[in-house]
Amino acid sequence: MNPAETIWIDGAWEAGAGPSLPVVDPATEKEIACVASASTEQVVRAAEAAASAQPAWGALEPWRRGEALRVIAAWFRRHRRELAELLCSETGKPIAKALEDVENSAIYLDYMAQWDRRIEGEIVPSDNAHETILLSRVPIGVVAAITAWNYPLDLFVRKVAPALITGNTVILKPSEVTPLACIRAARLIAESGCLPPGVFNLVTGGGSVGAALCSHPLVNMITMTGHRETGKKIMTGAAGTLARVSLELGGSAPAIVWKDADLDLAAEALAFSSFENSGQVCTSAERILVHQDVHDAFVERLVEYANRLRVGDRHGETDLGPLVNATQFGKVRQAIDRARAEGAHLVCGGYGLPSLPREGYWIRPTVITGVTPAMSLFNEEIFGPLAPVIRIGRYDEAIRLANATRYGLTAFVFSNDYRLIMQAQNDLRFGEVYINRAMGEALQGFHTGHQESGIGGEDGKHGVLKYTQIRTVYHRYS
Ligand code: NAD
Repeated sequence: MNPAETIWIDGAWEAGAGPSLPVVDPATEKEIACVASASTEQVVRAAEAAASAQPAWGALEPWRRGEALRVIAAWFRRHRRELAELLCSETGKPIAKALEDVENSAIYLDYMAQWDRRIEGEIVPSDNAHETILLSRVPIGVVAAITAWNYPLDLFVRKVAPALITGNTVILKPSEVTPLACIRAARLIAESGCLPPGVFNLVTGGGSVGAALCSHPLVNMITMTGHRETGKKIMTGAAGTLARVSLELGGSAPAIVWKDADLDLAAEALAFSSFENSGQVCTSAERILVHQDVHDAFVERLVEYANRLRVGDRHGETDLGPLVNATQFGKVRQAIDRARAEGAHLVCGGYGLPSLPREGYWIRPTVITGVTPAMSLFNEEIFGPLAPVIRIGRYDEAIRLANATRYGLTAFVFSNDYRLIMQAQNDLRFGEVYINRAMGEALQGFHTGHQESGIGGEDGKHGVLKYTQIRTVYHRYS
């Protein structure tokens, strides 16, 4: 294995012919790898390889495609430690969490493999005698999959598995911030020999490689996870080829903690939802709207949970690692500073603390109270381990503030008043609402953003069917 060869096209490894990009360990700030980007010519060849492999892959018996996904899952499990170590060193997350990510990715592949015998068509009556109308689901063609850095392997399979099971071929471009586990995963797929050449291809590089891929005329669908603004650029670019787009973008999730809520449950669930993966989750609770009657009691519990979380050595008994890179670290530090300057109170956590390692991008779980809708913290996606708390009084105020965002991915409600809960689930303009529980999507659910959190969605039946298109056949038999 030549480590310089990070690009897989048509069943062969090659070195990137574009500029090299450093990969940095966020716990030490040290460069751990340098990955060459694909050139435009390599992107073109990847698209051509995927296009020429697609008809045969799409025509294969679906159960054989399911078998291939099961083989990949088994290879991921067999190499779980190695994949987890790479995830650890490029994202900074603790090894226990990285091992969970690998297992979740294998579970996802196994789940998607089950769709091999489940894609169904329809037969509808015709207006004409002796005619049957058949609606069948067929592949879209070549799928470009562009992913973010927060869960590199989960996002890999979340796009590649449903695209492959439905008969599409894929070119994956992982985030340039965290490409290492994805490259290794692609090598495992290659070593397993379970996919014919060209069915799955990998190109490395940053936004310009992504843009070249998305604008290639042989690409029929773009599925991307990342920032709202990147999503808009991709959608604009896709107008040139009319490729379908599925965009899983950011969020700024509100959580309503009503006066009758179980405060222990709410505090524990929201500590997890604000701080897990150091707050670098699209569904993180970023605006906690707490009824004034229980505000202080809730904050006290939230701080207790925040202080319990262990931050540090990823091979030790820790819950959280550093933020992913200097850019993200700077953004979150600035968000904390600006909130304080605007009059909010830092109750616990922060950065630059004596308990934190000197090197690396560390921030302790941070609770900030006295946040108001006028503050920047309220209005932007934070993507860091911050739990901003806003005091509320009336139900309509809670809903108005919860909905006061251009995002629409996730919302949380904590209450024991069933009428209020039912009303809130209708009034909240979000694609995913959690009632009395922490974040965490189900395989069979549908993770979808409303408003500017995206177009499309992932998981379950709807997440699979989006990789198909309908063909109508008018079958005259007289
Ligand atoms: P990003 O938008 O900077 O990058 C995402 C991917 O897009 C990367 O692979 C990048 O190289 C590529 N890219 C950048 N410019 C491009 C262009 N012009 N054309 C094509 N590709 C381009 O996002 P990020 O910083 O990697 O990820 C963080 C964001 O992802 C946050 O907003 C987070 O909420 C979101 N996210 C959403 C979900 C979800 O399911 N909704 C899940 C995880 C992360």
